[in-house]
Amino acid sequence: MQSIIDLMQSQLWFYLTTVGLVSLCVGSFLNVVIYRLPLMMQREWQSECRILLEDELKANVANVNKKTNSTVENNTENSTGSNQPFNLVKPNSTCPKCKTAIKPWQNIPIISWLFLKGKCASCSNPISVRYPAVEAITAILSLVVAYSFGATEQALLYILVTWVLVALTFIDIDHMLLPDQLTLPLVWLALIASVLGYTIAPTDAIIGAACGYLSLWSVFWLFKLLTGKEGMGYGDFKLLAVFGALLGWQALLTIILLSSVVGAIIGIALLSIQGKDKATPIPFGPYLAIAGWIAMLWGSQLQSTYFNLMGY
Ligand SMILES: [Zn+2]
Repeated sequence: MQSIIDLMQSQLWFYLTTVGLVSLCVGSFLNVVIYRLPLMMQREWQSECRILLEDELKANVANVNKKTNSTVENNTENSTGSNQPFNLVKPNSTCPKCKTAIKPWQNIPIISWLFLKGKCASCSNPISVRYPAVEAITAILSLVVAYSFGATEQALLYILVTWVLVALTFIDIDHMLLPDQLTLPLVWLALIASVLGYTIAPTDAIIGAACGYLSLWSVFWLFKLLTGKEGMGYGDFKLLAVFGALLGWQALLTIILLSSVVGAIIGIALLSIQGKDKATPIPFGPYLAIAGWIAMLWGSQLQSTYFNLMGY
């Protein structure tokens, strides 16, 4: 183990190849997370709602029984019968159209998709280009982090964060949702990393997490009081808390400014591609994720640039 770490630290090619290959496989898994996690959450909400309704029904039936002294059939069976496991591991992936199981050799990141020419091997149903795209994006972004920070604990942490950010971005685009299951562990991870001395001073990280959450929370309520609309969700506050914990409170202003720049650029690009009528509203999460990722890599350079511009 120690010799592998030594090799990674001394041989850049070995380090980058390892990061690249691992990230491609992680990207393949992230496709599963992006697709299944929101469905898993939806199932959980539905079953919680059912339990709540069943309890209410039982209470009502008990009341009726008391009043009329008759025996009413207690009819609260489990209505949704599917008890099949559905999580990130089970069931195995199938073609959405013909339900044929995907064989291991068809699961090799990017290569399988190219080899199958983007079609299912049994029914020729097109496989979305997004699957290899997510794998490629995950690998490229991880390589940028690995190259910028070398074989260090900080690089490992930032690569992990990058993976989760990829999943968060696509889930938010699909469902306008930033699951707590992904944002909150990053907050704790970033705080622990600062305590272990891998990133910034713990004081900066703790204040950063709190200020990150509270700043967007205040904007949310101000916007809601002024316009009656909700401009973002609670997931956005938690995502900014992640970056506050990771990069310190000093980086928060940069990230918020950057996310509006990123939002403007993507907004203009989408307007020109899709046209004014068809342009779909994009949630705030992806802008925040992109801005935070940029700040993670080049934040200190950006900060010194605009302090120079302002004459400090
Ligand atoms: Zn098929």
